[in-house]
Amino acid sequence: MSVYLDNAATTKPCKACTDAMLAAMTENYGNPSSLHTMGLDAERTVDTARKQIAAALHCDASALTFTSGATESNHLALRGAAAVYGKRKRRIVASAVEHACVRGALALLEEEGFEVIRISPRENGVFDPADFLAAVDDNTCLVTMMLVNNETGAILPVGEVFSAVKRDHPQVITHTDAVQGFLKIPFTPEKLCADLLTVSGHKVHACKGVGALYHKKGIRLKPLLTGGEQEGGLRAGTESVPLIAGFGAAAASLSATVSARTETVRALRTAAIEQLSAVGGVTIQSPEDGSPYILSISVKGLRSETVLHFLAERGIFVSSGSACSKGKQSGVLQEFGIRQNAADSTLRLSFCAENTAADIAALAAGIRDAQARLVHKR
Ligand code: PLP
Repeated sequence: MSVYLDNAATTKPCKACTDAMLAAMTENYGNPSSLHTMGLDAERTVDTARKQIAAALHCDASALTFTSGATESNHLALRGAAAVYGKRKRRIVASAVEHACVRGALALLEEEGFEVIRISPRENGVFDPADFLAAVDDNTCLVTMMLVNNETGAILPVGEVFSAVKRDHPQVITHTDAVQGFLKIPFTPEKLCADLLTVSGHKVHACKGVGALYHKKGIRLKPLLTGGEQEGGLRAGTESVPLIAGFGAAAASLSATVSARTETVRALRTAAIEQLSAVGGVTIQSPEDGSPYILSISVKGLRSETVLHFLAERGIFVSSGSACSKGKQSGVLQEFGIRQNAADSTLRLSFCAENTAADIAALAAGIRDAQARLVHKR
């Protein structure tokens, strides 16, 4: 039996996804740009998926561009918007807890001469919208702030910040990386006042290698990839019809169950908090009002990797922090006020609605075992 508690890293593709992918690979395998019937069928498949994701986001299908994943969507959003709107306005304001791919895009923009202002949470680990507002000036082209932090599950006040920014500086472009919030917590790009919004397939029970970028009507972006008219000229390259079809099917299937899944996952997280709090030396690091899908804990006196491998040998799979960091710390936990020695001992547990009470019990027993066997061995 394996216990998979690393759903913020990636999720198991659902049946709706694999069925749609299989059909797109075995029957409907035309190129959407081809003018014959098979091409038109493939184009229709892409259109259907676009509508399914648009329905899940409560936006217009024409506002979505398919990409290879959130990393590309974030780069297209930030670098694509900076190229258009940042010719004279050279300041970008970002949260200091963004995913590595946003940090990577910002680093490239800094190399191009943009000034990036990074806003940290206050001492209590909570963002104060006033800090963003104070940083946004007439020289600012872009503000970016993720919706749910992938390391702690903290929900950031994106709507509050973006609406205030838009009120005071309507010309500033707003972008949110909504990867860990999509189909998990309720939001729409409109309610968040987001001009640009990133989602990823493999975090919502679709396959790896597909994502989408929402861009509000009228927002212009410079494409990263050119040389083809696909995706309205915004993203050249033959569309991966199977990946896109699977993403659309997964989004349609999940959007019918957002609140039921939230209830299930919330109960699992509560059980995890209760059972892990009873294990000596375990500290809960996630905010109480964070996403029900993510729980960050620290196991006193033990390094994350040691516990991770100990659990993996028992078939329990968790993350040491954020999956993309491969054991390298991003500094995000410290931004949230978590001390270095606790960060060194951090495990990220992330749930999906298929997890069970037995998974949580196995996790708690595994960590109790790790404490008993590993602490005195050091
Ligand atoms: N943004 C956030 C918040 C994430 O959690 C991740 C994945 O870990 C990404 C972006 C990157 O997503 P993708 O693997 O689709 O490029």
